Amino acid sequence: MKRALVFGAGGFIGSHMVRRLKSEGFWVRGVDLKLPEYSSSPADEFLIMDLRDQLSCTKSLALGQTRDYFNQVYQFAADMGGAGYIFTGDNDANVMHNSATINLNVLQAQVDFNSANSINKTKYFYSSSACIYPERNQLDADNPHCEESSAYPADPDSEYGWEKLFSERLYFAYHRNYEIPIAVARFHNIFGPEGTWDGGREKSPAAICRKIGKLPTSGGEIEIWGDGKQSRSFLYIDECIEAVRRLMDSNFKGPVNIGSEEMVTINQLVDIVGQIAGKTFSRKYLLDAPMGVRGRNSSNDLIRRELGWDYNMSLAEGLSRTYAWIHSQIQLTK
Ligand code: NAD
Repeated sequence: MKRALVFGAGGFIGSHMVRRLKSEGFWVRGVDLKLPEYSSSPADEFLIMDLRDQLSCTKSLALGQTRDYFNQVYQFAADMGGAGYIFTGDNDANVMHNSATINLNVLQAQVDFNSANSINKTKYFYSSSACIYPERNQLDADNPHCEESSAYPADPDSEYGWEKLFSERLYFAYHRNYEIPIAVARFHNIFGPEGTWDGGREKSPAAICRKIGKLPTSGGEIEIWGDGKQSRSFLYIDECIEAVRRLMDSNFKGPVNIGSEEMVTINQLVDIVGQIAGKTFSRKYLLDAPMGVRGRNSSNDLIRRELGWDYNMSLAEGLSRTYAWIHSQIQLTK
């Protein structure tokens, strides 16, 4: 039986990946600081551990028998959040320190494991981000450029993006020097049920669904960060998981974008959720709120060519499923 290890298994993408790997017949160990918040994990084993601690990383790789190994490791653990967490500047030191330490530790633990067991069979997936792309190519909301080849000369607009770029390079360095098999993807705004939807770390689709979900059927007002004209694309979680699985089962190392090319402004995102909810309301624009780059869209030419993967689900369909889930969460808290 194939074995998979999921770091960050208590988080949004990690918990969905555990479910997918179990449905494919993998034996799965999840590792995180916490259990998933919204449903129980189907992982065969779940270790509550802090991956900033080197010994925890070593323990998380160990299996019952010497020389038993994980076929695949999915590294989703990061100090992570939406614009309210990563673009204010208030959390920069923690974001950089915590996430870089996790990546440094897990890779070195794998090298030590390989050396102790004279083995090198474990393949790593690393979740990088569209936030690595240079700000200069994302100043025009109508025409952003996020081709994989445009990453350098580097100039991400956030420390979160710089850490992701450093860690991408770290995975490639461990691949070159220690032959660790790797695959690296740059996610573009993944959303869906069981993603963080309140508390300050939520991302824009969840925040908009929550704000509209809490309004009466008519009347009321929602706050929008910025002027609402900034553009983004959003990929539904199931499509992200499918793309990651295909990437891991291929020989392509990346880095490659995993995203949707259905670009909308935040105002259009609000329009769609308003229609799904069947609510009318007014909008208040907070022009000083953290926003990130002006425009961003995935460029999927490379992944289409290498993996034959493309997004299928419309944004409206993904938002409709997400709104229904967030609405049910709001009812539970009443
Ligand atoms: P998430 O915050 O839901 O999950 C991250 C998990 O990592 C959390 O459960 C957290 O507890 C865990 N973690 C943090 N520090 C840890 C530590 N020291 N030890 C053990 N576990 C720790 O985020 P997500 O949306 O599921 O994102 C998963 C990965 O994908 C992250 O690396 C993120 O940067 C990347 N990514 C996500 C998106 C997106 O749109 N969601 C976009 C780009 C990149």
